Amino acid sequence: MTVHKNYIDGKWCNSKGGKTFTSLNPSNKKVMGQFQASNSEDVEDAVKAAEKSFHEWSDKPAPERGLILLEVANLLRKNKEKLGKLVTKEMGKVLKEGLGDVQEAIDIFEYMAGEGRRLYGRTTTSELRNKACFSIRIPVGVFGIITPWNFPIAIPAWKISAALICGNTLVFKPSSDTPLCAVELVKILEKAGIPSGVVNLVTGSAREVGNVIVKHPRIRGISFTGSRDTGLYITREAGLKKVGLELGGKNPIIVMDDADINLAAEGILWSAFGTTGQRCTACSRVIVHKKIKDKLEKELVNRAKKMRLGDGLKKGIEVGPLINEAALDKTKRYVEIGKREGKLICGGNLGSKKGYFFEPTIFTDVKVNNTIAQDEIFGPVLSIISVDTLDEAIKAANSVKYGLSSSIYTNNINNSFKSMNKIESGITYINSSTIGAEVHLPFGGVKDTGHTREAGWSGIDEFSHEKVIYVDYSNKLQKAQGID
Ligand code: NAP
Repeated sequence: MTVHKNYIDGKWCNSKGGKTFTSLNPSNKKVMGQFQASNSEDVEDAVKAAEKSFHEWSDKPAPERGLILLEVANLLRKNKEKLGKLVTKEMGKVLKEGLGDVQEAIDIFEYMAGEGRRLYGRTTTSELRNKACFSIRIPVGVFGIITPWNFPIAIPAWKISAALICGNTLVFKPSSDTPLCAVELVKILEKAGIPSGVVNLVTGSAREVGNVIVKHPRIRGISFTGSRDTGLYITREAGLKKVGLELGGKNPIIVMDDADINLAAEGILWSAFGTTGQRCTACSRVIVHKKIKDKLEKELVNRAKKMRLGDGLKKGIEVGPLINEAALDKTKRYVEIGKREGKLICGGNLGSKKGYFFEPTIFTDVKVNNTIAQDEIFGPVLSIISVDTLDEAIKAANSVKYGLSSSIYTNNINNSFKSMNKIESGITYINSSTIGAEVHLPFGGVKDTGHTREAGWSGIDEFSHEKVIYVDYSNKLQKAQGID
């Protein structure tokens, strides 16, 4: 079995501790490979390498850094098929979504390459004569990048591309469920010409690696995507680092009585059961007007029952496995709770025992405050809540602690605009599902989802400081605020 290594200071190396761990294919529990179970010494080596290379990398003109990112995008495109299959094997999502994961990485590297010719500051006026005022972007320093497993290529790519274009160097700790995707991504960065020490990969556990990165005194920024609990931990432990957090969701789709029900049903199923419900933007609550509840419910159940569960590499499969045993147990637990809280109308059972499969599951007659309507399950479980008015629907949508994505199906313009303004979320879709973000727009949430924006025109804020410059060309001491 292949033993994969860490990548530190431009070299592929074993962990100082000599320990390894394995990653599994969730469709059949076969081992994907062995990886370094690194420790604090490895993190220290990675930080040293990132510090050593910082000056040269941040000094390189941003358009030149952009050219290297463009080469990363080119190589990702050349290897899209191979990497897409790897995503499906290691993470479980069906192949067309695995390819989408890689495409998102291509898109963001291209976008951030272009940012090398922008990285805009601002210019403004001065209170005083013969004085110029403007701002420039400066890098933060060494960044710790900590990522989850659900977009094993795209999420690291979002962070790494933005960190690099801003001139930072970094230590990357991927999820222990998808280390092979991380290794292959870093091989592409290496091949594209990222200089030694700029990107350092350290695989290993949350405790031995993630935690050390979070607390490391010479790491100046942390960019984290993952669960709310880990986000809270990082908030407490990272000290005065610049911290970016992209956390959980409990995303609603409102369906009004004037909506196109077929269109809504299609969007809900894609959003709830695509990626087996394991997207941060997945829909887990349908908030439907009472008048059309029965019709929508029937439509959803009929279609959900036909969805084919299985290995995502096989043709015709629409729903892959959950990521691991813990995720399967969590889903089972919530389904038992759901049986007490609502009415099970679809699924509710394990799929094939070969892998971590669970059927697309739908509960109806769920109340706004029920556990299954409040907690992030992160599996293929959908709750249907019925309401009488749009105001009631928006109140229900806003009743959770999260605020990432949301959607409304309606053909009424007033309903649309009211929802855009009143739903508490970072993203609202009109007549479309809750998933499908595009990389040239900012992505992120409100409330306990965190307040960071990644990608798009705000995507470089997380990875840079805005520094203000005053240039006084009056040849005398001028004082602001009218002081003589
Ligand atoms: P997680 O358990 O929080 O883990 C995420 C990453 O953090 C992994 O690399 C994990 O390492 C590491 N980690 C865990 N505890 C840590 C600690 N105390 N210190 C430092 N690192 C630590 O989340 P997950 O289960 O992988 O991902 C699912 C969650 O991510 C869901 O809540 C989902 O909504 C959220 N998510 C949010 C977005 C968004 O953009 N808002 C996007 C995708 C996913 P190990 O793997 O080694 O344990």
